Amino acid sequence: MKNLLYLNLLFVIFSSATEAQKIVVDYAESITEAELKTHLYTYASDEFMGREAGTEGETLAINFLKDYYESTGVSAGSTDGSYFQEMTVTDRQGNSIDSYNVLAYIEGSDKSDEVLVITAHLDHIGIEDGLINNGADDDGSGTVAMMEIAEAFIEAKEDGNGPRRSILFLHVSAEEKGLLGSKYYTDNPIYPLANTVANLNIDMIGRVDSLHIDQPDYIYLIGSDILSQDLHDVSEKANEDHVGLAIDYRYNDPTTLVYEFGRWRQNRYYYRSDHYHFIKNNIPAIFYFNGTHEDYHAPTDTVEKIHYSLLEKRTRLIFHTAWNIVNREDRLALKENAVIPSED
Ligand SMILES: [Zn+2]
Repeated sequence: MKNLLYLNLLFVIFSSATEAQKIVVDYAESITEAELKTHLYTYASDEFMGREAGTEGETLAINFLKDYYESTGVSAGSTDGSYFQEMTVTDRQGNSIDSYNVLAYIEGSDKSDEVLVITAHLDHIGIEDGLINNGADDDGSGTVAMMEIAEAFIEAKEDGNGPRRSILFLHVSAEEKGLLGSKYYTDNPIYPLANTVANLNIDMIGRVDSLHIDQPDYIYLIGSDILSQDLHDVSEKANEDHVGLAIDYRYNDPTTLVYEFGRWRQNRYYYRSDHYHFIKNNIPAIFYFNGTHEDYHAPTDTVEKIHYSLLEKRTRLIFHTAWNIVNREDRLALKENAVIPSED
């Protein structure tokens, strides 16, 4: 009798664990190659004119994102109840630019004060010498990944499986002018930085670089263990349990050399995308990245060159990592003596 009860109890525990696994897998499967492709064929089309911050292309991009979140049922995340955070920023030439971050928000349940911020930059470099830079990889790929992740979480919430912590889907602008949108957000946060548990930053995840032509099922992760071992472990486990990509950590060292713009130089990727402004504020972050390629910042970074099945896998990895961060019992612990590499 006693033994039987014990077995029953074990069965209940075991089956509810598998049930939870099954649920998360179902939502991950709502992230599909086909939908990513459909979104990207619009977002990185000529119509958006290269999405340069402060131009009509940016206006089209921010309205496209707003319309998407409205129709998907994801709430506006800005203070005035809108999807936009308006900002005036100054570019490297000293010009002042009116620009907008886009914010969509899913409120958590019992830990709603704590927020996970997912970022991807919405802007690109616009038109140069009469040629449109569509930025399909940079950062159309991260943008559509975030749209699909948000859709998976809102479906979960509608089924009663919403996240315990809140999630801010933050499409930052003016990244190409010097990470200005993410700097503006972290200088003027809408959700307190002290309650921001982590940042997952997605910038270029649709291509394969020259180092991985023979093994394209990879992704670079940068920064995952700098501030929190928990974050690194959660990310590794999400990959192991669900995705199985080869994770390449070589650029965790900012001095690792890369061949770019016709010469070898230190990669410095750690400082070169929007996660940097979160990490410097002591918020654990991961930068998801496929490395550079011959079409980087060129009019040839176009939609037909994206590997959509790979984009799907990488997006699912980020979704599973996010799912764990927002649903786990304990907030990700910070390392006690973390050293944040400074820019100089
Ligand atoms: Zn980028």
